Amino acid sequence: MSIGAVEAARNILTRLHEVMASRSNAQTKLNTVVEVIGECLDSEVCSIYLLREGMLELFATRGLAQEAVHVTRMAVGEGLVGTIAEEIETLNLAEATAHPDFMYRPETGEEKFHSFAGVPIVRRERAVGVLSVQHVDPRGYADIEIEALQTVAMVLSELIHNADLVDEVDSYAGASGQTGPEQLRGLTLVKGLASGVAVYHQPRITIEHVVAEDTEAERARVIMAFDKMRDQVERMANQAEFGVGGEHEEVLATYKMFAYDEGWTRRINEAIDSGLTAEAAIERVQQRTRMRMRQIDDPLLADRMHDLEDLSNRLLRIVSGQLGTAATMGLRSDAILIARNLGPAELLEYDRRRLKGVLLEEGSLTSHVVIVARAMGIPVLGRVRGLRGKVREGDPLLLDSDQATVTIRAAAGQIEAFETRLGRSRERQAAYAALRDVVPISQDGKRITVMINAGLRDDVANLALTGADGIGLFRTEFQFLVSATLPARERQTRLYREVMESAGNKPVMFRTVDIGGDKTLPYLRHDDGEGEENPAMGWRALRVALERDGLLKVQARALIEAAAGRTLNVMFPMVSEPWEFEAARKVFEGQLEFLRSRRKRVAESIRYGVMLEVPALAEQLDLIAPRIQFLSIGTNDLTQFLFAADRANPKLAERYDWLSPAILRYLRRVVRSLDGYNVDTTVCGEMGGRQLEALALIGVGIERLSITPASVGPLKAMIGQCNVGEIRAAMEGWLANPPKNLRQVLTDWAQERGISVD
Ligand code: PEP
Ligand code: MG
Repeated sequence: MSIGAVEAARNILTRLHEVMASRSNAQTKLNTVVEVIGECLDSEVCSIYLLREGMLELFATRGLAQEAVHVTRMAVGEGLVGTIAEEIETLNLAEATAHPDFMYRPETGEEKFHSFAGVPIVRRERAVGVLSVQHVDPRGYADIEIEALQTVAMVLSELIHNADLVDEVDSYAGASGQTGPEQLRGLTLVKGLASGVAVYHQPRITIEHVVAEDTEAERARVIMAFDKMRDQVERMANQAEFGVGGEHEEVLATYKMFAYDEGWTRRINEAIDSGLTAEAAIERVQQRTRMRMRQIDDPLLADRMHDLEDLSNRLLRIVSGQLGTAATMGLRSDAILIARNLGPAELLEYDRRRLKGVLLEEGSLTSHVVIVARAMGIPVLGRVRGLRGKVREGDPLLLDSDQATVTIRAAAGQIEAFETRLGRSRERQAAYAALRDVVPISQDGKRITVMINAGLRDDVANLALTGADGIGLFRTEFQFLVSATLPARERQTRLYREVMESAGNKPVMFRTVDIGGDKTLPYLRHDDGEGEENPAMGWRALRVALERDGLLKVQARALIEAAAGRTLNVMFPMVSEPWEFEAARKVFEGQLEFLRSRRKRVAESIRYGVMLEVPALAEQLDLIAPRIQFLSIGTNDLTQFLFAADRANPKLAERYDWLSPAILRYLRRVVRSLDGYNVDTTVCGEMGGRQLEALALIGVGIERLSITPASVGPLKAMIGQCNVGEIRAAMEGWLANPPKNLRQVLTDWAQERGISVD
């Protein structure tokens, strides 16, 4: 703001302050406000429209016909005023009639006015009204005048709220002015259904006081808040606890840049000088930046804008003393969490009983938070455009991640349909839970081993809940993903020991860390892997662990010590060549020897396994089979490599079928080449968790599956209904002479035999 703008704003604010403090009623206050603004801005017309019963109603005017007051009403989106409310955007027009949205209202007598400027009156990010000025001369309003109007609009928002001039319901109306249901689409990240109220991970601050009583005190408050915010940003950079993924460094750099940006501080101070409270000044500057950024259509800048918004919200929370996330305040009812993005640790802070779903403005299939949410069984819908503009805190939401939609303020019919689906899904789950003690044996007496995938301490409880045979895949990197810093050896040991103890005599297959690639850790630099073009095929998993053998050594020692007196099952991810397995095994054997020499209690024995995820390994199974006790087929990675189709690319998600003869023939060959060796062969990718796919896997000779806990019941049901001999024979025929649509053929085959495969 220029000096002139500061003065103009201060002048208006001082006079408005008097109006606000007067004892007159709200209507009189509004009448005075339009006079004050008209005078100060030397404008012939000044009008206030407020949202009432879903319509924008002319509440007060100077310059337009007084008969029009409480008579002229327009819908949100209608005319210039309606457009301002809908878009929550300022209009500044030298010639109003030239605007495509211009609409003439004869009762107002506005035909003689040419120039028009209007700003939205916003409360809780929703337009509750519009403040406009008009002038006979066709001239655009100067920036300082527009800024003064925007400041007045903030004051009006407070006045309107205090005087109860708009219904709360109306203020809920949303940018689109809708109070009815609205459906947004996104990208399914974790499937599932959930209903609950919208809870913002970082609660929005509602500014209660706009006009300052004591400008010096406000200035001091903002200085303190800036200090604190800079401290926080520094700490984030030092601890790198900013676990939102690969972009964290860039985000942190931007945060730092803004936190020390003199222009930003100066503008906030100027807004305080004009008579605003610290909160209002921060918001005021933010509104202005938002407006300017919107005029520049650049996605990169839009990203930076997001960062500045985050930082500005942080500053607001500090200055208003409303710290903490929704997690620290606790969830009071069933909730659907809303965030731009989340770190896995942040997600884990929530009460699992109340957190029903997550909506993200960003997010990808492989983002850490999604991996953790999947493990927690929480549906996640990502890439929901316009989320934060459309949903407000407390809105009832129906999340249908199966269909990639979320319904805001659902209508009765929609709720009913959703409840029916939810009910059916719960019934199914209850029926499956009842299979807990049922042993998975096929009709012809074949015992299939059904284990679960896990990664967090709490996941072990699923063993008892599902009656699974063990943990076929324990993703140890989860502990690394949810930590702010590299987990120390003692912490690793503790986790592994607790997991084994809770699992009792059921086996746990620990997989050494699969980090790198898409699962980057902010605190672990692996320089060669920076900025990889194809991270899934890059510097990850065992490739990283062998290079940084310090990492593997620490983990080996933690696992060996944690397994004191027991058998340790350990496997290595992404083994491509037998020598990689040998090198990893050597690290473990070395640690075992070292610990023995130190007379430490160690694992009674170690069973070694490898994950088959890289197709090349299948060509050398005869070389590796005599040296391992088990092999785990990670179909998530394996199939993406077989088809050269990135598992994280939504465009390819449906292109290739897991039930393709290529995959099934490949797996059958793997099973056969291990014939005669004493190697337990398990499938532990997501594929094995689906009934139809699992049936096909059994058909190619797989007898051990490790799957997401929610699939144990459905799989036990399917296994109990199938005849292993029959499916194997049928599969032989199909793979020798593949039908056009194996999925359909297999579905029909299963249904004819009463095998549930939905
Ligand atoms: C796999 O690749 O199938 C697997 C189980 O490992 P992850 O999903 O952790 O990569
Ligand atoms: Mg994998």
